[in-house]
Amino acid sequence: QIPVICIDGPTASGKGTVAAAVAERLGYGFLDSGAMYRITALAALRAGLAIDAAHEHDIAALARTLPVRFAEGRIYLGGDDVSDAIRTEEAGMNASRVSALPAVRLALVDLQHAFRRLPGLVADGRDMGTVIFPDAPLKVYLTASATQRAERRYKQLISKGISANIDDLRADLEARDTRDSTRVVAPLKPAQDALVLDNSSLTIEQAVQQVLDWWLE
Ligand code: C5P
Repeated sequence: QIPVICIDGPTASGKGTVAAAVAERLGYGFLDSGAMYRITALAALRAGLAIDAAHEHDIAALARTLPVRFAEGRIYLGGDDVSDAIRTEEAGMNASRVSALPAVRLALVDLQHAFRRLPGLVADGRDMGTVIFPDAPLKVYLTASATQRAERRYKQLISKGISANIDDLRADLEARDTRDSTRVVAPLKPAQDALVLDNSSLTIEQAVQQVLDWWLE
């Protein structure tokens, strides 16, 4: 079996950064599954589809043939570079709405499985260990306190010159966590065999090292 390391966890827990660094160290591929939901939401809105249950099947049809391409660290929807457009807080919230539609989740399964290629894959998301790669030999559930996560997100935005309010950010990420963990299909929760890593007081390097230690154990 082609090895997969799953890194799941709540919004802004540092999953993306840690997963990308682990992939880099091991020379593995990297799957940012959240980007799939973000792009699907964007594609739906661009197609004039409201993100709600009434449009579930239309959005799923769109997701099944999503013209998404990852190249040199950029993400393209058709010919359009959407790397920045999908990173806004609003895009995250739209992604969370679209991801609660079961038919959309199902439509994105094959696309995610296609990332499993030699020599291996690090997959970042909410349901990598529970649904998409249940046979993965290492599943990490990366968490951090809501305060820490809001602070990190705040610093990220400020460093990009985007103004932000830390209380709004915290409220947003808690709303997103609630939606993600209470949805019927693939709710956010640690896989039964996941190792939980609390990132609140770790540096990125320490978190990366812990995952690598578990992998090489
Ligand atoms: O990880 P990221 O913040 O980019 O994910 C955006 C949203 O996509 C999440 O809030 C979640 O609702 C959804 N998502 C999901 N399953 C995944 C990855 C992301 O439902 N595997």
